[in-house]
Amino acid sequence: LSDRLTSTFKNLRNKGRLSEADIDATVRQIRRALLDADVAVPVVREFTGRVRERALSAEVSGALNPAQQVVKIVNDELISILGGSARPLSFAKVPPTVIMLAGLQGAGKTTLAGKLALHLREQGHTPLLVAADLQRPNAVTQLSVVGERAGVPVYAPHPGVASELEVPTGDPVQVAIDGVAEARAKVHDVVIIDTAGRLGVDGELMAQAADIRAATNPDEVLFVIDAMIGQDAVTTAKAFLDGVDFTGVVLSKLDGDARGGAALSVASVTGRPIMFASTGEQLRDFEAFYPDRMASRILDMGDILTLIEQAEKAFDAEQAASMAKKIVSGDGFTLEDFLVQMQQLRKLGSMKKMLGMLPGMGQMREAIDNFDEREVDRVEAIVRSMTPMERANPKILNGSRKARVARGSGVTPAEVNQLLVRFESAQKMMKHMGKTGGLPGMGGMPG
Ligand code: GDP
Ligand code: MG
Repeated sequence: LSDRLTSTFKNLRNKGRLSEADIDATVRQIRRALLDADVAVPVVREFTGRVRERALSAEVSGALNPAQQVVKIVNDELISILGGSARPLSFAKVPPTVIMLAGLQGAGKTTLAGKLALHLREQGHTPLLVAADLQRPNAVTQLSVVGERAGVPVYAPHPGVASELEVPTGDPVQVAIDGVAEARAKVHDVVIIDTAGRLGVDGELMAQAADIRAATNPDEVLFVIDAMIGQDAVTTAKAFLDGVDFTGVVLSKLDGDARGGAALSVASVTGRPIMFASTGEQLRDFEAFYPDRMASRILDMGDILTLIEQAEKAFDAEQAASMAKKIVSGDGFTLEDFLVQMQQLRKLGSMKKMLGMLPGMGQMREAIDNFDEREVDRVEAIVRSMTPMERANPKILNGSRKARVARGSGVTPAEVNQLLVRFESAQKMMKHMGKTGGLPGMGGMPG
């Protein structure tokens, strides 16, 4: 997926403005890329539709070129579908908080039970694990082992019986009820109920999970789904949504090759937040789910996204606007403004390496190529060595003042003079721009 998208955006480079045809071509490629990543077909359709709409109606940004704008739109849409920001667990007003796990066999429920238990214990909670999977041989033993590793007690139907061939018997609904009662009696503030799964969607299993839910009234029902599940993500998620319903999603096995297609499908089809990510077999391989990180992972273009952020910062719109106003109103362009311009250029300088990838930066790019970072330090030192009055009105800088400034900033008086000459020419340029209505831009640019 990422390679596909990267090449899609490469195609957008070196174009001035996006036309409808450009956008459509891009959207077609995004559609294909998402389908390759096993994002469900209706999800892909809706997603690309929204991106297209927004790209067509987007105002042309001063800071971003069209290609960057499309990247940003795609990224924003991904984050929005993935749930905006991470949602934490919600706890019951009156403990114990009941957390029920649901999902197919092998999804990673029992492993997650241990991870969650450890995570909660480290946050000062006193969780109890409840073994309500009486389907799979050894399931109770597996949870006991996990509980021991997490340092969290386990409530099981046959405590003490733990042979390799153990096939637990009993009623899982009753075990869940008893487990919650046990937690209340022993003052555990959280109960995590591990349940049985089947290899595929199954009516009987769904009914059992629904019964456990009804009997224990959980504060959270977490649907655990293997991130590698592919197109089946939609069917499975819908079946659990209809059959059991859940309050949140946990994506497991995100440490594999999964590109996040399932994340997009599940979030989009169920509207439930993805809350956690399981990223390995060890108890600590567990983290909150961050939609923005997942969006980047799906796009796998971290550096391009960073670039957008930097560009936005560098062209701080407010700063530019206030400077424009100053010039138009005739307040004058001061040495301080000059310094700010230099500093903005420095920010851009740090992007220099990456600029090779960017289209449409034309003359600015040339300026940045010729830009000497040390120059900014020198200008800053000199300006800082001046009194506020000198900064506001450099004309008062006579020989002895210049000598003082030179000493204070560790440069020669000649260098102070050079700066003043450059500043004056920048000032003239800004005045001219103010008169002609042009926007202030790179007036203070060296070279
Ligand atoms: P359950 O049937 O839903 O309870 O699933 P389990 O917790 O028993 O997990 C099934 C298998 O997947 C086990 O071998 C786990 O070690 C493995 N597993 C679970 N979560 C992860 C994960 O996040 N990453 C990896 N690589 N393996 C996992
Ligand atoms: Mg299990």
